[in-house]
Amino acid sequence: MRRQLVAGNWKMNCSVGEAVQLATAVRECLGSVVGVDVAVCPSFVALQSVYEVLEDTPVSVGAQDVFYEDAGAYTGAISPLMIEGLCRYAIVGHSERRKWFGEDEQSTSRKVSALRRHGITPILCVGESLEENLAGKTREVLVRQLEGALGGSTPWNEIVVAYEPVWAIGTGKAAEADQVNDTVSEIRGQIGTIWDVDTARDIRILYGGSVTSENVASFVGMSEIDGTLVGGASLRADEFCQIVFQSASMRKKGALD
Ligand code: PEP
Repeated sequence: MRRQLVAGNWKMNCSVGEAVQLATAVRECLGSVVGVDVAVCPSFVALQSVYEVLEDTPVSVGAQDVFYEDAGAYTGAISPLMIEGLCRYAIVGHSERRKWFGEDEQSTSRKVSALRRHGITPILCVGESLEENLAGKTREVLVRQLEGALGGSTPWNEIVVAYEPVWAIGTGKAAEADQVNDTVSEIRGQIGTIWDVDTARDIRILYGGSVTSENVASFVGMSEIDGTLVGGASLRADEFCQIVFQSASMRKKGALD
């Protein structure tokens, strides 16, 4: 059975001191959470400090990105080798990386492989823009992104995929849960085509895009959705913890049904 994952993407927010405060507040409410996997993804400069706050708790630490080489003349880059001991997860292919830093399928694919070599679980983000959605190109875009990132590699059920329609990120306009469930089902089908059906069945696929404590239940109650990638709402510890608690109890209810 796939276990729910709630990952908080803090983006380019928080000084190191603020990140420690936020992580400490998360530790206070989630220090003994059960029934759900949880991760927070601070900036690179705060990784070490946040790791120390959350060490020995069920809350993991993730990076928001990574480069694909281990070391060398890559000014400004952070390698998987550098974050290996600190991070259980690393987000790759986020639409903001694609938009502002020119990342594409090829670089994302290399990042996935690099993380795999270092035992760090990628959270691979895919999703269509508003224009692509309105033009009926959602499926085409997802196939291209998934094939680009995963094609040519051997099956790996540890990877996490996050379906994040770009128009829902940071807009307060979350997608409809039943539509997300259908799209996530298509993503799973596509992974089954690229790799195989058994691997696709085991892979966790999250939804991301304006998730809050108000709407999270509608997503995690869906059969295909295995958790959420939370941006803005993860910057408030009380809100993030509510999202986590609802995800944990929703999964338990599902298991009893
Ligand atoms: C994100 O950055 O991945 C995200 C989903 O952001 P938000 O929750 O703010 O829409």
